[in-house]
Amino acid sequence: MSKVAVGSTVDAYCTKCKLVLAHTVMAMDGAKPRRVRCNTCKGEHNYRAAKPVAKAVAKKGEKKAKTTAKKTRQTWEEVMQEASAKPHKKYTMSGSFGEGDWIEHATFGLGCVQSFIAPNKITVRFADATRMLACNRS
Ligand SMILES: [Zn+2]
Repeated sequence: MSKVAVGSTVDAYCTKCKLVLAHTVMAMDGAKPRRVRCNTCKGEHNYRAAKPVAKAVAKKGEKKAKTTAKKTRQTWEEVMQEASAKPHKKYTMSGSFGEGDWIEHATFGLGCVQSFIAPNKITVRFADATRMLACNRS
């Protein structure tokens, strides 16, 4: 990287253009530009190497994803709670189940039948995962 001094052209983030553009250094802070002037809009502002909001947006996105995941789980817990009060069938390989049925599996616990795959399989959503189980087997 070439040495930056007052009057040099550097790439900086322009707060007005909202882009990383060529700027002229107006003042230095040690080896770094402190104030720059945008070559595009001629606006003078503090030097920023990159878009300042990029980090904030990423953080926000992360938070949003976390919230969504939590919400989904809560909803599922609520659904489970509701379902445990409803009648549900004990799961056996010989049993016959339909979409929307609630089943109680000896290992996986309570689950909701998502779909019936003819002739003898069902997909069941349990608290931790959706599993394919056998049914209608004698
Ligand atoms: Zn500008």
